[in-house]
Amino acid sequence: MSFELGLQCRDCGKQFPPQPMAGCDECFAPLEVRYDLEGIGHAVSPDRLRTRAHSIWRYREFLPVADEPSARERPVGGTPLLAAPTLAKALGVRDLYIKNDAVNFPTLSFKDRVVAIALSKAREFGFSTVACSSTGNLANALAAGAAAAGFEAYIFTPADLEEAKIANTLVYGARLIKFKGNYDQVNRLCSEIAQRYPWGIVNVNLRPYYAEGSKTVGYEIAEQLGWRLPGAVVCPMAGGSLIGKIAKAFDELRQLGWVTNSEGARICGAQATGCSPISQAVKAGRDEIEPQRPNTIARSLAIGSPADGFYAARTIRQTGGWAEDATDAEIVAGMQLLARTEGIFGETAAGVTVAVAQKLVAQKRVDPDRPLVLVITGNGLKTLDAINSVQAPIPVLAPKLSNLEAYLAAPLPPAQPAALAPTAA
Ligand SMILES: [Zn+2]
Repeated sequence: MSFELGLQCRDCGKQFPPQPMAGCDECFAPLEVRYDLEGIGHAVSPDRLRTRAHSIWRYREFLPVADEPSARERPVGGTPLLAAPTLAKALGVRDLYIKNDAVNFPTLSFKDRVVAIALSKAREFGFSTVACSSTGNLANALAAGAAAAGFEAYIFTPADLEEAKIANTLVYGARLIKFKGNYDQVNRLCSEIAQRYPWGIVNVNLRPYYAEGSKTVGYEIAEQLGWRLPGAVVCPMAGGSLIGKIAKAFDELRQLGWVTNSEGARICGAQATGCSPISQAVKAGRDEIEPQRPNTIARSLAIGSPADGFYAARTIRQTGGWAEDATDAEIVAGMQLLARTEGIFGETAAGVTVAVAQKLVAQKRVDPDRPLVLVITGNGLKTLDAINSVQAPIPVLAPKLSNLEAYLAAPLPPAQPAALAPTAA
């Protein structure tokens, strides 16, 4: 059974029955799914989870879905939480973990989680066509999910999408349409489409449900730490939804008494300096988010007018966390540091997270003696252009041992400067 009670406005508190809905009809604020938390507490316990497979459906009572997943609902989520001792030493913390959604199934980003919930609801509400505006990862996840679940899919993106993300969308048969402009302009168009066409637009009229999929990152982190909350989490921010949902998951687990430590986790946010409306607000102690024109290589985070920015900043403040941002050169250095210390190739957003974690530790914003979790949301194979621009030249030799030995004896070529050309949005 489902423990979903309906939707509620985050600002004015107005309640609505379950339905496709983009925001509150009174005040336009985002909507939150409400649950019978007490009912969930009676229905399931950490012990009873043990026999279930490791996927988002493991936590189905906490999600707006009914009963068992169908055969068409694939095992999304259940990604590893990896101890990262070498990176911990480099950052100067004792216990560091990587929540590695770079290997999330099926399209190698955390967006597979939100799409799974959105498509489950799309079916429940009777949609046969789904759509989204996307900076890339959502495009991949929706295209794959729609193919598996039998929906027709339309994907709308800014024109400067990375090659890998285009290929990873088209291969599934989705209709991809690029628009000249940035994500925020494409997203505004999607709101108009949602009013005219009978489509389930996953991040518009299905957004309250879609966003709930992100809570599973929080449940998994807590369970993988032995039902304990970490000291802090560093999470990349684009629209600002994921960070709030990790906090919501931790909060639900604390209310149910599933986590044993009394101290909460400090929720920290990471942005690219070239698109940092949320981190700038946090650093300035401002409530309101000032929209920006994105100009960063971290295109998956290039949302200048983040829908959940205000709430992300509030979550960060309320949990005693902080936010920082990273320049393009720092982002590439962060990607390399993660790869070279832990063997994990994350996309540009991962470089943002690692670079920001470095700053937060240096600024003593996180406790170096409590576990720190870095949320890696996407795979580096999708943003090869960012890293290709700084690779050392590769030697090409005639296949003779003497050539190899001459090469090895010569001094290494100097490191490449970060010659990065961010795309103007
Ligand atoms: Zn309202």
